Amino acid sequence: MPIAKSAPCVREHVSMLAFNTFGIDVSARYFVEINHLQEYIDLVQEGKYAHIKHLFLGGGSNLLLTQDVDALVVKVQIMGIEVLDEDAEHIWVKAGAGVLWHDFVCYAVDHQWAGIENMSLIPGTVGAAPMQNIGAYGVEIKDTFDHLDALNLSTLQVERFDAARCTFGYRESYFKHAGKGKYLISSVCFRLNKQASPQTSYGAIQSVLSDKGIITPSIRDVANAVIEIRQSKLPDPKEIGNSGSFFKNPTISAEDAKRLIVEYPGIPHYPVEGSSDIKFPAGWLIEQAGWKGYRSGDAGVHAKQALVLVNYGHAQGSEIKTLSEQIKKSILDKFGVNLETEVNIL
Ligand SMILES: Cc1cc2nc3c(=O)[nH]c(=O)nc-3n(C[C@H](O)[C@H](O)[C@H](O)COP(=O)(O)OP(=O)(O)OC[C@H]3O[C@@H](n4cnc5c(N)ncnc54)[C@H](O)[C@@H]3O)c2cc1C
Repeated sequence: MPIAKSAPCVREHVSMLAFNTFGIDVSARYFVEINHLQEYIDLVQEGKYAHIKHLFLGGGSNLLLTQDVDALVVKVQIMGIEVLDEDAEHIWVKAGAGVLWHDFVCYAVDHQWAGIENMSLIPGTVGAAPMQNIGAYGVEIKDTFDHLDALNLSTLQVERFDAARCTFGYRESYFKHAGKGKYLISSVCFRLNKQASPQTSYGAIQSVLSDKGIITPSIRDVANAVIEIRQSKLPDPKEIGNSGSFFKNPTISAEDAKRLIVEYPGIPHYPVEGSSDIKFPAGWLIEQAGWKGYRSGDAGVHAKQALVLVNYGHAQGSEIKTLSEQIKKSILDKFGVNLETEVNIL
């Protein structure tokens, strides 16, 4: 006898507390977990939730929820890692959108496939990674990205996106702009390297490796160094609610940058590849403006990293949003620099 397919269970008024790393306790009008793309397509075709917005959710590590979510929250749990192809130098590996990003990095490191080890321990899922072209320690996913598959929500057809179609930039992609709210990313395929060429020049990686006496690091050594650095500077969301960097590092025209460098001689700054613009670390600006370690109620600025806003316990999303606006205003007043938020505020 054929086994009846069970439809995913849509629940009502579900607490989002366990589903966002800021630890904000708001409620979702409807909530469903999907393990296969077809489950979502069936749900849409059923038509029962056509009247309401659908919000796709991975690990909730790039979200600030400021109010109850009047939407069908779709927690994307599409799993699986699969090798699609390989040649002498590369291997093409596809991961389901619901695979945890760090698990995918560990899988690659275990198989000695290089290229994403610098992005160890970034929270969240593979499916959300292309949204803002995640990156850390000198590497972004665009560097090893091959393609992704995404469901077009208007046509219910799966479309393939190569890197050009994703228009990746610094914490940017097509999916945050023209493609916003139009696609469910179901899987992402990476072209990883069989030969390692570790990137150790960024941040403290080199000094952590030197302290351990490692001269020719393997990709596992690099991954371990990155994990050690991240654990020492970033708050663990399981202990203190946060979404990582709240703001993007601002990029400024060379002319405006010159003014800042003259006025603040010690200000760190970096050239932007392929442009005359200059990038400044937002964390430095926020620290100089006196916000590091600031706390109002349970909303605050992390004591070790001023770029990270935190929830010490029971802060409301709106309180963290207000704090972020105060910081933005103070940076504009002091430095004439406009900070853009990296976190998605809902
Ligand atoms: C402690 C900490 C450190 C961090 N460090 C870094 C870092 O070093 N570099 C960095 O780039 N980021 C960093 N982040 C931010 C975050 O980890 C990434 O943005 C991550 O990709 C978010 O994944 P997620 O699954 O949690 O996405 P969510 O927060 O669940 O979703 C983010 C956005 O993507 C959409 N989305 C999610 N899944 C899908 C899907 N399958 N299809 C379509 N849309 C989808 C959501 O609707 C939402 O708009 C950090 C966060 C924390 C908490």
